[in-house]
Amino acid sequence: MAGFRFIALDADDTLWHNEPLFVAAQDRFREILGRYDDVDAIEARLYETEKRNLEVFGYGVKGFTLSMIETAIELTGGAVTGAGIQEIINLGVDMLRSPVELLDGVQETVEALAQQYPLMLLTKGDLLHQENKLARSGLGDHFSVIEIVSDKNARTYESVMLRHGVDPTAFLMVGDSLRSDVLPVLEAGGTAAHVPYPTEWIHEKVPEDALAGRSFARLESIRDLPRWLDELS
Ligand SMILES: [Mg+2]
Repeated sequence: MAGFRFIALDADDTLWHNEPLFVAAQDRFREILGRYDDVDAIEARLYETEKRNLEVFGYGVKGFTLSMIETAIELTGGAVTGAGIQEIINLGVDMLRSPVELLDGVQETVEALAQQYPLMLLTKGDLLHQENKLARSGLGDHFSVIEIVSDKNARTYESVMLRHGVDPTAFLMVGDSLRSDVLPVLEAGGTAAHVPYPTEWIHEKVPEDALAGRSFARLESIRDLPRWLDELS
């Protein structure tokens, strides 16, 4: 058994599918705006609005929905109707209510890991939505600690480790995002394993040179995690 006192797992696109919901919502958003004249570069404008709003709304579906509404008003020059706004709100509600689909291998891997290590779920986003997803995932009993944070930077990881009395050398983070689950963990002195998801939100991308000299595990699937841990010990 590798010498980790905690294995922390990201949730969205690490345990359950998430990014496809956002992609599908953006497709429907484009259809709604397509009824108005001269509306183009929708994705780019939406991303600009989201980025600008992150610091006030935080991550998650609710902030995303407000950003869609704001983008719709901007791009249509105020012509979007009340009914159009309602459709956008419904998009957000559908996302919040959509079923939780676990990634391949998650159920058995999380079950097996929980026999050997204390597991921490460490995710950012809307508190209520993440709690609901965890409850619906059926995985809740395998985690001894749940941390839902507003952002994942080195300070966040340091305070999580401090809160749970874990030395950084005994902390492993596993997740799909280099920006949120890998680089800040290394900066905080911990160990990271990257398990990429097929699609990635542009906001989570990092340039390849930001990875130069950084040492972390690259796993193809969460199924590879127990074997990698065995090899470490
Ligand atoms: Mg993720």
